[in-house]
Amino acid sequence: MTTTARVFQNYIGGKWQDAESGKNFANHNPATGEIIGYFPLSGEAEANAAVAAATAAFEKWRLVPAPKRGEILFRVGELLKQHKEDLARTMTQEMGKVLKETRGDVQEGIDMAYYMAGEGRRLFGYSVPVELSNKSGVATRDPVGVVACITPWNFPMAIPTWKMFPALVAGNTIVFKPASDTPLSALRLVEIMYEAGLPEGVVNIVFGPGGTVGEALLHNPDVAVISFTGSTESGRHVAIEAAKSLKRVSLEMGGKNAVIVMDDADLNLAVEGILWSAYGTTGQRCTACSRVIVHSAVRKQLVDLLLPRIEQLRLGNGLDESVDVGPVINASQLSKIHSYTEIGKNEGANLVTGGHVDKEGELAHGHFYRPTLFTNVKPDMRIAQEEIFGPVLSMIEVSSFEEAIAVNNNSKFGLSSAIYTQDINRVQRAMRDITTGILYVNSGTTGAEIQFPFGGTRGTGNGHREAGIAGLDVFTEWKVVYTDYSGKLQKAQIDQ
Ligand code: NAP
Repeated sequence: MTTTARVFQNYIGGKWQDAESGKNFANHNPATGEIIGYFPLSGEAEANAAVAAATAAFEKWRLVPAPKRGEILFRVGELLKQHKEDLARTMTQEMGKVLKETRGDVQEGIDMAYYMAGEGRRLFGYSVPVELSNKSGVATRDPVGVVACITPWNFPMAIPTWKMFPALVAGNTIVFKPASDTPLSALRLVEIMYEAGLPEGVVNIVFGPGGTVGEALLHNPDVAVISFTGSTESGRHVAIEAAKSLKRVSLEMGGKNAVIVMDDADLNLAVEGILWSAYGTTGQRCTACSRVIVHSAVRKQLVDLLLPRIEQLRLGNGLDESVDVGPVINASQLSKIHSYTEIGKNEGANLVTGGHVDKEGELAHGHFYRPTLFTNVKPDMRIAQEEIFGPVLSMIEVSSFEEAIAVNNNSKFGLSSAIYTQDINRVQRAMRDITTGILYVNSGTTGAEIQFPFGGTRGTGNGHREAGIAGLDVFTEWKVVYTDYSGKLQKAQIDQ
């Protein structure tokens, strides 16, 4: 363990600042246990100071022409590109996923920067004909005000950019409360935004626990929007608390995503999609495949193909390019994952591989869990219903397409699904009948692109979407302006 790790600060109103208490918390590398840095253990005072700074900055930022705001985001994209490797390495050290995935995480940020830079020259409203002569009507998007962005640790770069870039191009200012497990990636992102020319106070970052910093943001009357990504449990709490002051709340929450493998599927292709979706990011993606719903005619073949591939997955430090699966984020997540293995065994599911913590050799100081497969899982078992958020896959056997769709939809979550089939009719019916926000055909459950709306149904979301043009909705207020140039009072619906 190193004791020389750097001490970092909050950035509020253009000033680097410690927490008022002077206290810090440590950030650990989940692969090695090393301390990466110390961050301010902030609370209500720092959260409120950040809201005050963002409120003051809003009056100027909202008046900066949107194309100029977009140009700053374009420069952010250029800088993210320039620092991609360094940012990816920082992220792998902080949260464990392998380098090729953290590079992808930065790439999502780059993509979003360029996309929202372009929105600076669009931000389309509309003008439509009006009922009366010598009168016009136009609908425009206004910024809402101060946005609190509360983010998880599993996509430390992509998720904050999905919130902050559309919020900024629309003219809002921000208080950013990143996950306590990934503060350094968040800080690097904010540094880059200021290097790109963002005016002081427009983005403020406050480190510290959700229970204090996050809570203060939920209750501060000057916060207009809460954009939250995290667990369904926390999201429900956020919605309830923020409703008390009628804040606008956008929630992106948990998932229990399924890959359906039909009897006519290309099984080799399905195996690739399942491996990538179930064990990539160590199963800690909101879109991770945690259920495989397989037709009984191909179940044995699928297991025979999948099992050796799961057992070959190499665990280790994500900085090593030969590693397939990194650690899970922390000790409490490791024990939660293992508790689900015990639950699955007690429920009568068949543990085929994995199901244990791995502390062998160089894994000794990290939080590693062997990629796990259960077969003989019934749709209502807890391991088939609850989000485990780790490398644990449950296989459920069905005997028809209709049963596969019903099992897929039987979930309190609704983020993404996938179907492997060669039958165009089944594809069309799946497109109609699957009730998740995202559906992949002949691909795994993960791989969203930033130009499309992202989000889910039921316990995954509250009706909003991130990314694409839909991503602007939560950060803008529609304003309609009617101009009457007739020189007399014309009454809508009354004068014809
Ligand atoms: P989490 O524990 O809910 O935390 C998410 C964020 O909320 C963190 O910044 C956390 O702060 C903060 N927070 C916790 N309690 C709070 C409170 N009372 N008030 C305000 N903020 C509070 O989730 P996580 O473990 O970081 O992330 C994993 C979850 O995120 C999974 O359920 C996953 O499915 C979901 N997720 C969803 C999506 C999606 O787009 N649908 C994407 C990625 C992840 P601390 O870190 O300080 O606790």
